[in-house]
Amino acid sequence: MNKIIETIPPSVSLSITSKAKALVAAGESVCSFAAGEPDFDTPAVIKAAAAEALERGETKYTPASGAVKLREAIAEKLERENGLVYTPQQIIVSNGAKHSLFNVFMAMLNPGDEVLIPAPYWLSYPEMVKIAGGVPVVVETEEARDFKVTPEAVEASITDQTVAIVINTPSNPIGIVYSGEELSALADVALKHNLWIISDEIYEKMVYDNVEHVSVGSFSDDVLARTVTVNGFSKAYSMTGWRLGYFAAPMPLVKVAGTLQSHSTSGPNTFAQFGGVAALTSAASDVAEMVAAFSDRREFMYERLSAIDGVTCVNPQGAFYMLPNIASFGVDSVTFASRLLEEAGVAVVPGAAFGADGNVRMSYACSKENIEEGVSRLAAFVAKL
Ligand SMILES: *Cc1c(COP(=O)(O)O)cnc(C)c1O
Repeated sequence: MNKIIETIPPSVSLSITSKAKALVAAGESVCSFAAGEPDFDTPAVIKAAAAEALERGETKYTPASGAVKLREAIAEKLERENGLVYTPQQIIVSNGAKHSLFNVFMAMLNPGDEVLIPAPYWLSYPEMVKIAGGVPVVVETEEARDFKVTPEAVEASITDQTVAIVINTPSNPIGIVYSGEELSALADVALKHNLWIISDEIYEKMVYDNVEHVSVGSFSDDVLARTVTVNGFSKAYSMTGWRLGYFAAPMPLVKVAGTLQSHSTSGPNTFAQFGGVAALTSAASDVAEMVAAFSDRREFMYERLSAIDGVTCVNPQGAFYMLPNIASFGVDSVTFASRLLEEAGVAVVPGAAFGADGNVRMSYACSKENIEEGVSRLAAFVAKL
């Protein structure tokens, strides 16, 4: 077996989700906060575009880096919405942003190359870096500072082997959103040390309280020349099962990643890519409706959660997660999550998976009834601990 992959555990959030689903199938009542996906159907305009493409006979391979039409639409979107000027040739469309990130690490890293990952982090970053032969270096943050990584902490983690830093804003699992000022200070450190910035912007549309998402690559040509912008359709357009994501980067990296994709997966599903074009051009009002619903649920859940004795929580400004601190109950996050599921029928993801063992992740991409009932159960459960 492959010596690196053999040592890597499978994705914890996916396994909790399936454990919860199995309990439901067995007739148990489970309130799940574990899922990492929106609970809405894909907007009709997107489904119709894919169905039409299928009907039209768009059933053959596209270019390995993705359909030209979609890459053009992505280039226009990145310039219009994010202030990022990329040509369609600088964009590779893959089977989800997860796949895009994987291709980026594979194309970028040589054995021993270090990648800085601020904690708490999305659980696949360190594992992908390892699979690509690199070394994930976790940069610690402070909960009292909303878990935001500081330029000083980043600088202190840099060695001769450091080649990149991952920035995820709005973030999974915390829901924090970096301001332009904060991002700019991080970009300065990256430039000074000649690092790549891998910017995962998959939650860019999910921002609340009039907070603005800023794309780090938009600061200057120098920053853009060191930035890999990763994005996708899963979260903003509720298209998780379509498997469609992309990245945009300087040409040398795109060339290598393009070769990798041409010999591995080829281009993503052809008619899904036509759905992707419709998402970028015709689904803004659907997105606005979903974001409004998330915003409402966020307030609802935050109020109830932070009212529980012993629970503290950073108030998220983006994405659809909260990362409540449960350290005061004296159990680690894995024990907490498995007992909570078994004893109270509430599914959450242990923070240990994200490098935050004193916390659990709860998604509010679910109904308000689920939030009401689930948080009540959680409160009753911790009262007995
Ligand atoms: C969901 C997610 C992704 C990838 O989603 P895809 O479905 O593969 O497009 C990437 N990064 C973060 C932080 C995510 O939460």
